[in-house]
Amino acid sequence: MNTAYQSLCARLMMAGVPDARFDAVQLYKFVTGRDPRLDNGPTPDEASSLRVLGERRAAREPLQYLLGEWDFMDFTLKVGRGVLCPRADSEVVCEAAIELLKDAEAPVVYDLCAGTGCLGLGIARHLPGAAVTCVEKSADAWPYLTANVAGTGVQAVQDDIFTYYNRLPSGEADLIISNPPYLTAEEMAHLMPETAREPAMALDGGADGLDFYRLLTAHYRDALRPGGWLVLEIGCAQAADVLALGAANGWVNGSCRKDYGSNDRAVLLQKPEKSC
Ligand code: GLN
Repeated sequence: MNTAYQSLCARLMMAGVPDARFDAVQLYKFVTGRDPRLDNGPTPDEASSLRVLGERRAAREPLQYLLGEWDFMDFTLKVGRGVLCPRADSEVVCEAAIELLKDAEAPVVYDLCAGTGCLGLGIARHLPGAAVTCVEKSADAWPYLTANVAGTGVQAVQDDIFTYYNRLPSGEADLIISNPPYLTAEEMAHLMPETAREPAMALDGGADGLDFYRLLTAHYRDALRPGGWLVLEIGCAQAADVLALGAANGWVNGSCRKDYGSNDRAVLLQKPEKSC
């Protein structure tokens, strides 16, 4: 009987950790390299590391931060305190962009508010001809982004998207993708304990959660070539508002995609082929 694993499970359950068993298995594997369900127990050193990590998880530090890396699509990203954890929900946003670009030869792509770089890196992996630039303002997120893009050919730029559009050439980009902060003030006041440990800067979308969509729809059309796309992750209740912002700012062919949990998750907006 692996009593160390049993007590880790019990500790995490008592702390109200969602998916306590899953997290216990991951932490045990991380510390020992072995599956707790097939193992007799940790060494004394392993047991003490496990206790420390168990207490941190019981205090609701995100599992992703404790493990230091997390999978997204078919690759693994470095994560930690100071950067938004990549989420499975965002995979459909990346897949929508890859589909839009599948016939493009050497598409120019920007990932704005890139965080770990998950969206831009996902595009680059699936479209090896793409020239991808990940833009991130946060000094705390920056080391994760640079570590993740290293050796991939993806560029990282530290800049503020509220002014970055002034530095982009006109009409050259094929696609801009972004998972901007989009939580409302009300949502920010009621975060899950784990989300509250993630950077507010990556989550806080202003009073109604739409500040970044106003900016992106108003200022990032010029950088795209005619027919280019803006692909946005959204909160599940924001599709109508973001589509309306798109229409009001001269974008066409707006549509929404759901994630694998059947929630609205991506809005796609196209720059008109011809300006009229
Ligand atoms: N999907 C995240 C959450 O619900 C929010 C991400 C964001 O604001 N970009 O916690």
